[in-house]
Amino acid sequence: MSIQIFGLPVSRGVAIGRAVLVASSRVDVPHHFIDPALVDEEIARMIRARDVVAHEFDVLKRDLPRDAPSELAALLDVHQMLLQDEALIGATADWISKRHYNAEWALSAQLEVLARQFDEMEDPYLRERKADLEQVVERILRTLARGAPSPMPGTTEGAKDFGGDEPLVLVASDIAPADMLSFKRSVFKGFVTDVGGKTSHTAIVARSMDIPAVVGARQASNLIRQDDCIIIDGDAGLVIVDPSPIVLEEYRFRQRQSELERSRLARLRHTPAVTLDGERVELIANIEMPEDGVAVLEAGAVGVGLFRSEFLFMNRGRDNLPDEEEQYEVYRRAVEGMKGLPVTIRTVDIGADKPLDGMSPNELRHESVLNPALGLRAIRWSLSEPGMFRRQLRALYRAAYHGPVKIMIPMLASLHEIRQTLENIAHVQRQLTESGKPFGACEVGAMIEVPAAALTLPIFLRHFDFLSIGTNDLIQYTLAIDRADEAVAHLYDPWNPAVLHLVSSIIAQARAAGKAVSVCGEMAGDPIFTELLLAMGLRSFSMHPSQIASVKQRVLRADTRRLAALLEPVLSSDDPEQTWTELFAALTTSGHGQMVSVAA
Ligand code: PEP
Ligand code: MG
Repeated sequence: MSIQIFGLPVSRGVAIGRAVLVASSRVDVPHHFIDPALVDEEIARMIRARDVVAHEFDVLKRDLPRDAPSELAALLDVHQMLLQDEALIGATADWISKRHYNAEWALSAQLEVLARQFDEMEDPYLRERKADLEQVVERILRTLARGAPSPMPGTTEGAKDFGGDEPLVLVASDIAPADMLSFKRSVFKGFVTDVGGKTSHTAIVARSMDIPAVVGARQASNLIRQDDCIIIDGDAGLVIVDPSPIVLEEYRFRQRQSELERSRLARLRHTPAVTLDGERVELIANIEMPEDGVAVLEAGAVGVGLFRSEFLFMNRGRDNLPDEEEQYEVYRRAVEGMKGLPVTIRTVDIGADKPLDGMSPNELRHESVLNPALGLRAIRWSLSEPGMFRRQLRALYRAAYHGPVKIMIPMLASLHEIRQTLENIAHVQRQLTESGKPFGACEVGAMIEVPAAALTLPIFLRHFDFLSIGTNDLIQYTLAIDRADEAVAHLYDPWNPAVLHLVSSIIAQARAAGKAVSVCGEMAGDPIFTELLLAMGLRSFSMHPSQIASVKQRVLRADTRRLAALLEPVLSSDDPEQTWTELFAALTTSGHGQMVSVAA
């Protein structure tokens, strides 16, 4: 029977495919496909970990004190039995050989299957054995984590084989940002998660991959089973499981329509983004890794406005963070890949929903850190680890020798942090000069994403070469809405007058001071806001490469002088969204000038 699950639409379009479930686990589990040639090696790795755990249980049983309750020995026997059970080990090996999951993913996938079977058992004693199974699997997972990791495939080879020609869509309770990144180059055609908000990092990466995604779909990962046929409607925030043939056909039709629309928009790639009244608008891109540069050039962006460098640091453990050389190589590749166009690289924004060790926001909420979004995050983290920060800064300045690099600092809130940041920068420049290593000059900019920064903008304008407004966080911190929490996602509102006042005033002050200002939060890539931001005076928009064409289409049809006249009534309205919608509709139908039909 077909079922419908509602969530938040976070990345547009329609995906139809077979569900691949990623089970959530209390242990930090990496998920990726392995190279099909390495299947035997991966199974052996899983068996070795199982054997280590079996040995640990033997030792534990042997060393049990004489007066230990007899249940303890019996429990260890149950655990030993589970460890040898084909339903666990044989079936896990099957996931590895047939689906090419890495061992950790295979184990947690099989745990999920068995846990459901336990849940359905009538006998309460047997139902409780689920906890034993979970403990055993956790132990194997921890053993795997201590040993050598499986080789990261970095490609889609592993998934291709089992998927055949059928598209695959990923369904998970939550996806850690680092996992999301390893899926980035994989074959998935869509994402569904139980948790997350519109600007959670899962949503951001899905948009950057330009594939449909629905987050905050609550029970999706419980209701959907492995291999179910599902439709993801990324426009409506709807997931349809086991659709009827008629519904399927309708969605296939919509898929073809949106592909046609995309190829129509792609023709704008080389058209300069200039408004009807001759205002030149800079459309630049947000990326997560240097390889994304190809998509940036293909989309016709004129540079990178935000390289989220933290993705380099995630999922590798605290003892294995990238050193200066490794970072230098990555940044150099990004710079060279952009063929002379400027690349704005943000220093690490670790923390909150992008923890170092690949924990998901949901897991984080259960950690002892109560308010990660208000905690040691972004520049606060960098300043608390000066060695780390300086290594990154040195790598950035050295990369700047190979092409234009701008350095951007996230989440600054106070003069104290600004001074510390600039001192580190000066220190690094002295070090590089003394070392004789070649390096280039960089403009240094601040992200304005904390209300305190927005309200003390003159300080930032005095100290930095440029500003970039991080609307994702600015909205989160202005409205006190956790951007990753689906329970308050309906309150996350870019149209809130407080948000619009801040954004508009930042743009106006930067322009008055003659400093470059852009927006690199999700608002910049959402065509609904293109004209409003133009009306505020914004001339630089940074977004996912896939969003450039639709925003450009709106820029080409806009007249900034006429739009600017709408700003004052919108900013003084109690309901800016309503006021803007009415005024904008009147403007586009009034027949003045050429600004007609702006529907994308
Ligand atoms: C933002 O906050 O708007 C932003 C661009 O940074 P991030 O989404 O990476 O926090
Ligand atoms: Mg931010």
